[in-house]
Amino acid sequence: MIQVFRPNMPPAEAILPYMRRIDQRRWYSNFGPLYHELRARFAAMFGVTEDQLVLVSNATVGISLAIRAVMSQRAGGICLMPSWTFSASPLAAMAAGLQPYFGDVDRDTWALDPTQISDAQMEQASALLVVSPFGTPLNMDDWETVVQKYGVPVVCDAAASLDAVARAPEFQVTSIPIVISLHATKALGIGEGAIVLCADPDVIERVRQMSNFGFSKTSVSQVVGTNAKLSEYSCAVGLAALDRWEGVRANLLARSARYAEMLAPVDGVSLFGAESPYASTYAVAELDHRDAYQLANFLSRSGVETRRWWRSGCHGHPTFNAFPASPLPETRRLSRSTLGLPYYADISDEEMSRVVTLLGDFLASPHKREDAAPALTRGAREVV
Ligand SMILES: *Cc1c(COP(=O)(O)O)cnc(C)c1O
Repeated sequence: MIQVFRPNMPPAEAILPYMRRIDQRRWYSNFGPLYHELRARFAAMFGVTEDQLVLVSNATVGISLAIRAVMSQRAGGICLMPSWTFSASPLAAMAAGLQPYFGDVDRDTWALDPTQISDAQMEQASALLVVSPFGTPLNMDDWETVVQKYGVPVVCDAAASLDAVARAPEFQVTSIPIVISLHATKALGIGEGAIVLCADPDVIERVRQMSNFGFSKTSVSQVVGTNAKLSEYSCAVGLAALDRWEGVRANLLARSARYAEMLAPVDGVSLFGAESPYASTYAVAELDHRDAYQLANFLSRSGVETRRWWRSGCHGHPTFNAFPASPLPETRRLSRSTLGLPYYADISDEEMSRVVTLLGDFLASPHKREDAAPALTRGAREVV
């Protein structure tokens, strides 16, 4: 069996020296010394000051707190977001008291297009959540223009895009909060955790307060908060992960380049973001003419695990399908034509070659109707 993903976390011995420091200091959470060291190292990575960054317990809660921090006094309303995203995006908006409104994505970038946002949509929206798909960069100046034009706050779910945020010149840290996940399935994993970045230190301070019961300087709840702090143990894993990050990053990039090279001669399939110089943990194949469900079944029968990472888009999940949506032709197309292939930092040439050979066999085989996805219809019976 070739697995779709295998995490690449720091080994126990690499974490141990940091754990010893926790033992010596006997400080286990609540912004301790390891938290500060990790925050300083991430600030250097993203080219921001330490007051422009806060670490929280996961990206889902990070997005939710970031939305609440930029909405300031306003409460409730609609949060415009793509349907083509992970469930965490609408759940985070709902936890911030907003109702998702699903928009379609651009054919090439798989993200909301800042030039296609309509006045009618923005007049209704209290906030907008833009999602960076599968590690690819967004142009934050374009989104700043949307904020200026409509006065509607924007938050960026860049959960899977740590490397693009760190290195892509257009992925600027502006007044729009950017949230990056440190989950074990992401490129720089620590188990559970997330980074919230924003050029405005007041927004960061609000997120920090909300992550700690709404406390400011004393244990008095000044605002509605929760407990979303990152413990010193998680920070120990984070410091060990950063020590080896350049190696993991180089491996991810080398493996994806090799995949693209192997897939180049195969007609009818491409890898999303294959030319991207930014590391991620996804190899999402896009089929020109064939059905991704059929491919998933075909590969599964040959012992290759795949994943429809974002399924049919969020609008199809039972929890979200009553929410309003624009017409979603691109989302529907992506849900049928794309599939996450096995990919991770230490995937071997042999494993990739087997996947590519089977993919070629599938594309050369005749269409089989019985394996195709059931027709997608809007509503509760939609296949997600
Ligand atoms: C992984 C992911 C999340 C959730 O991150 P957690 O840290 O697991 O909460 C949110 N959005 C997107 C796009 C993701 O890929």
